[in-house]
Amino acid sequence: MDFSEYKGIYVTAVLKDGHLQRVTGELLGAARMLAEKLGHDVAAVLLGHHVKGAAADLISLGADKVYVIDSPLLAHYDGKAYQKALAGFLKDAKPDIVMFDATSIGRDLAPRVAAELVCGVTADVTELSVDDKTGLVVWSRPAMGGNIMADIISPNYRPQVGTVRPGTFPFPERDESRSGDVIEVAVKLEKNDLGTLLKEVILERIDENPVEEAEIIVAGGRGIKSREEWELVRQLAQLLGAAVGCSRPIAELGWEDKARQIGQTGKGVNPRVYIALGISGAMQHMCGVNADVLIAVNKDKSAPIMEAADYAVEADLKVFLPALIKQISGLKAAK
Ligand code: FAD
Repeated sequence: MDFSEYKGIYVTAVLKDGHLQRVTGELLGAARMLAEKLGHDVAAVLLGHHVKGAAADLISLGADKVYVIDSPLLAHYDGKAYQKALAGFLKDAKPDIVMFDATSIGRDLAPRVAAELVCGVTADVTELSVDDKTGLVVWSRPAMGGNIMADIISPNYRPQVGTVRPGTFPFPERDESRSGDVIEVAVKLEKNDLGTLLKEVILERIDENPVEEAEIIVAGGRGIKSREEWELVRQLAQLLGAAVGCSRPIAELGWEDKARQIGQTGKGVNPRVYIALGISGAMQHMCGVNADVLIAVNKDKSAPIMEAADYAVEADLKVFLPALIKQISGLKAAK
């Protein structure tokens, strides 16, 4: 294998409900960071049907080129058809690095494509860097039940492939003045390339304020002792226009939807402000939190989260939470 033939960082982009996913922007930001160190170009590979309109957005977020793979058979995600379309393209394109988002689609598609390209895949990455000596990407992810971080490299195969968790990297600033090439890629797909026959799409429920897209998150943990007290967490979130998040014990109690659990087996989040109420700061929780400002309220000043916090409030939530809600409600009413 001649590694010198493999060039560029490719970010895969699959739209959700016709819109670019926030995680795709995060991946482009991360790709630019790697590109600056490696001297690579960044390309986005946009898959779907009638998706070309999103190309300009991808360029403004950091792509130098956008490859558009469009087919009516790619209108809805189908692992088999997407694998055929993407792996076929990547075999010819020979990228050095391919990044997928670790959503349900990326988690399905990355190993399919990697198997076809005969290379490895590092799943669920939460940190990325470049090894100065070898120029290899170092994909880091929690391992051994989240107790250690494992650094994974791919010295023997190309491309280097990984899935990156949503919320791991900041969303880049849009630069509308950026320009780039939009290249349409011909793809031959037939009905029997589909692995599933889609009969109907039923939208069950739309989360109006998902944690992975929130600017402010009010998250609670086991320091909240009852369902009644949990309602106060929700009330505070509503007052602040924030999304509600939680640690795993709260999701297990059924007080909050599992989709709002933050951490290793939950979501990764990237808000401006993260308010942690009665959360100890276990590594399995904190690996999902990448906030500009972390505020922790805990009655134990030696809890790990108090060390990590930008603002650590030592207080008993039984007293503090109702008092804070009263104070904020009063300020809002006075406005
Ligand atoms: P605790 O650790 O019990 O902390 C409660 C905190 O509340 C304490 O610091 C305490 O001082 C404080 N407190 C108590 N009463 C009050 C009060 N009245 N006022 C103020 N403060 C108070 N966890 C996750 O969150 N997300 C994950 O995705 C996740 N994945 C995991 C995956 C694996 C493989 C494993 C093994 C574990 C995982 N966990 C996860 C669990 C994780 O290890 C911790 O057990 C969990 O995060 C602890 O949740 P907590 O902070 O709410 O509870």
